[in-house]
Amino acid sequence: MSIDKILQYQEYDMKYIKLENELKSSQEAKKVMAYKQAGQQSIDNLTRMNDVADHTMESLKKSMASLEETSKQIDEINNSELKDCDEKQLDYFAKQLEKLEQKLDELEREVSRGNKELGEISVNQKKDFEQAAKAAKAYRAATDAFNELKKKMSVEAGALSKEMKAISSDIAPQLMERYMKVRANKRVPVFVPLVKPNGCGGCGMEIASDTLNKLQEKKIQECPNCGRLIYIKD
Ligand SMILES: [Zn+2]
Repeated sequence: MSIDKILQYQEYDMKYIKLENELKSSQEAKKVMAYKQAGQQSIDNLTRMNDVADHTMESLKKSMASLEETSKQIDEINNSELKDCDEKQLDYFAKQLEKLEQKLDELEREVSRGNKELGEISVNQKKDFEQAAKAAKAYRAATDAFNELKKKMSVEAGALSKEMKAISSDIAPQLMERYMKVRANKRVPVFVPLVKPNGCGGCGMEIASDTLNKLQEKKIQECPNCGRLIYIKD
């Protein structure tokens, strides 16, 4: 069987693959990826900061509750009737009051710290929201540019597909199937000539004499090393 047809098919297919690779490695494709990642990064940051903010808010609530409770205790001591107390009791109250006031100071510092933290988080969140919005906008623009490029390339790709489809009707289905199988493994070009005396035209590996004998007989043999299809012409 002559393999000229499938070699012709392969020629178009290689152009098609080249186009695909050009699209995949284009600046436009890279930008789409980069802005997508940047957007994701901002969203991750925001999610993390929300967790931190929730946690800080919880602590702050607890500190506020303690603060209220401590203030109440101080008020109770201050408002209590002290006229019947002896010196020992007064001394005790004074000490209690001192302790509570210390606690109050501490809690006030805690609340102030929590407020400051929440303020900082809020500033960072605003920044990340802005960045996320920017990335989303840039992502949309990059996607538009990518689709524009894809559309342009698809004219050429469509023409190649049409040629391939026309040729493939002259190719034995079994041979086509073998071709597609190797192509799917990204071993392209699939068909490679024998490099005399016994080298694979794809990977350069020397092939054993039994494979070489089969190649002489069947004109097509799979390279045991790279899996491409080595051919010889009549
Ligand atoms: Zn090979």
